[in-house]
Amino acid sequence: MKTIQAYRFALDLNPAQERAVYAHAGAARVAHNWALARVKAVMDQRAAERTYGVPDEQLTPSLSWSLAGLRKAWNAAKPDVAPWWPEVSKEAFNTGLDALARALKNWADSRSEKRKGRPVGFPRYKSRRRTTPSVRFTTGAIRVERDRKHVVLPRLGRLKVHESTRKLARRVEADTARIMSATLRRDGGRWYVAFCVEVERPDRTPARPESVVGVDVGVRHLAVLSTGDLVPNPRHLTDAQRRLRTLARAVSRKTGPDRRTGQRPSRRWRRACTRLSRAHARVANLRRDGLHKLTTRLATTHGTVVVEDPNVAEMLTNRRLARHIADAGFAEIRRQLAYKTTPNGGKLITADRWYPSSKTCSGCGTVKTKLALSEREYECGTCGLTLNRDLNAARNLAALAAQTTTAGSGPVAARGADRKTRARGQVAEKREPGTAPAGKTGTVPSQGGTTDRALTKAH
Ligand SMILES: [Zn+2]
Repeated sequence: MKTIQAYRFALDLNPAQERAVYAHAGAARVAHNWALARVKAVMDQRAAERTYGVPDEQLTPSLSWSLAGLRKAWNAAKPDVAPWWPEVSKEAFNTGLDALARALKNWADSRSEKRKGRPVGFPRYKSRRRTTPSVRFTTGAIRVERDRKHVVLPRLGRLKVHESTRKLARRVEADTARIMSATLRRDGGRWYVAFCVEVERPDRTPARPESVVGVDVGVRHLAVLSTGDLVPNPRHLTDAQRRLRTLARAVSRKTGPDRRTGQRPSRRWRRACTRLSRAHARVANLRRDGLHKLTTRLATTHGTVVVEDPNVAEMLTNRRLARHIADAGFAEIRRQLAYKTTPNGGKLITADRWYPSSKTCSGCGTVKTKLALSEREYECGTCGLTLNRDLNAARNLAALAAQTTTAGSGPVAARGADRKTRARGQVAEKREPGTAPAGKTGTVPSQGGTTDRALTKAH
């Protein structure tokens, strides 16, 4: 089975190499901004000509928005715009132009409603201060050295990696992997290289192919499994908060840059900034590590994993819970499970966000109309079952899998199916005017509306 996989390694660059990498990332930005300015200028020119009644065939010819078109325009202009162009790899300019071509396409598709989801804005200029420096190489000498301590990239040459590259090197040597591209990126005060690799690997099966597990993702626990397993939420951000506060205060006491007065940042300010960003990066790394361990364990153990589709965007509007929810990385769990279950021979079932997993009794199937978030124990009035709230929800999710696999017609959504997030007591009337998105005011969806949406299957 062939899959695309990324291998990411931290780099140990010497000052000269770091300058060269920065130059490449900067070149990507320059090409992007130049091409964006050209696109805008041509668009404005054509719009102005139209107002003067110039017929369409006599308008200034439009610029092609494809990567090939942008590259052609750039290559014609680069001797004037960037006389230093031979100093960096052409892949650097390609990175910026490719980003622009994609952004323009996304914008155009979004406008013509070919693209689903939130509306995409028109591309913006990349600022030197704000954009994450990155550059991608797709052709040329890209390889992992046999010593497993170095990688080779076009123009940049041999770069030392911080950790051993053996996992990738072994695959390349055994001819089960083909490196397609390499992206250099600065993250948390450090440079990384990420290889995009096409990997050929044997089919796998989970340790217990028949096993079904329901996963209730929460704040109190990172996840509650229907097997009764409670995965604690480590709350890395909360733990790190004191240190982050101290470091942030240290930054604010030092002389930072000021664009009005032209004040340059002091060395101490730079150092303090590095320390702060390293601390933030550490929190992110810890969180990522915990989530990966959990999702890998689920995907390699169980044949079927059932999760809920958490309406994260809406949950984040609840300010008191927002930080913890963001910390736990709800959506990330689902995303990781989606790509880990299939290559492991398992499958992922996603319950619709309106499926009343918390309100249903996992013993007899009765659905409560109301369940306050403060009720940590689920008590059934019909059969007398008393169970941890999250465990009850996890069992309901697991039961959902059996309903889809045997009946085929999908489960019948229970009565009173309500949006889970409603239970938090957010009342539509209390919202400021205009903040409620269309169709999201406080009405309970009709029963007919919930039945056919009760299940969506991934893949
Ligand atoms: Zn019951």
